[in-house]
Parts: sequence; C-alpha cells; structure tokens
Amino acid sequence: MASEKEAAIAAVRSDGPTIFDKIINRQIPSTVVFEDDKVLAFRDIAPQAPTHIVIIPKVKDGLTGLNKAEERHCEILGHLLYVTKLIAKQEGLDDGFRVVINDGPNGCQSVFHLHLHLIGGRQMNWPPG
Ligand code: C5P
Repeated sequence: MASEKEAAIAAVRSDGPTIFDKIINRQIPSTVVFEDDKVLAFRDIAPQAPTHIVIIPKVKDGLTGLNKAEERHCEILGHLLYVTKLIAKQEGLDDGFRVVINDGPNGCQSVFHLHLHLIGGRQMNWPPG
C-alpha cells in the first residue's frame, strides 16, 4: 500500500499521454471487459478485490482527473457512471460494489487520465484507508 502512495506522489501530473492511452490504442495488453465508442473498461493489473475494473473515457479532453471537470464533461461523466452500473451487472456484483475516483496526491491518484475503479466481490469496509 505504501508503494501505491509513493507512486501517486511521484506521478507526473501533466496533460500528456499516459499508460491508459497505450491501453486504448492496444499498444500494451489489457483484459477488456466492456467497450463502446466513448469508454473502455479493463481489469486492473493490481486488483484490490476479486473484481477490480478500471473504466476510462477514450478521449481525455483535459480530464486528467475529476478536479478538471467542466460543464462540457457532464455527458461523459454521466456515461461513465451508467456504464459502471452495466459492468457491475455483467460481473454479477448483485450484493453491491464500490466505485472509487482517486484524485491528486492525497487521493492516491497515479495515472492522470480520469478513471473510475469498480471494486467488488468482497465485503468493503468504511471508512476507506
Ligand atoms: O487511481 P489510480 O491512479 O491509482 O489508479 C490507477 C490504476 O491503474 C491502478 O489501480 C493500477 O493498478 C492500474 N493500472 C492498470 N494497468 C496498467 C497500469 C495501471 O490496471 N498498465
């Protein structure tokens, strides 16, 4: 867990390409579980629960993180949440799940391309760490 925090602190907070662009372009492999014209969802390479999926907009449009959201992003933000619900259903998370958006160093964000974490398949705790 400490290494994740260190990675978040060390992460480059620019609007440039990230590892997620390479996943979108299939330059590096990922296990895609959902895709449409606007979003891509794939299994997290370091899962924190039996089900852990990362859901991203295919076009970043300045959304390095949620803190950069503007009114023009409302449609994609709503779509990301709706798709998350579809994937939760697809994954059989009928007893519940958690959706997380890490933002900035305090939020432990390490990749600066907006993304939602869909986490499930076990009992979650509250408050989160
Ligand atoms: O919220 P945060 O920025 O920390 O999340 C980035 C996530 O992207 C991490 O959970 C990390 O495991 C995941 N990732 C991935 N595949 C990669 C690189 C990162 O699933 N190739």
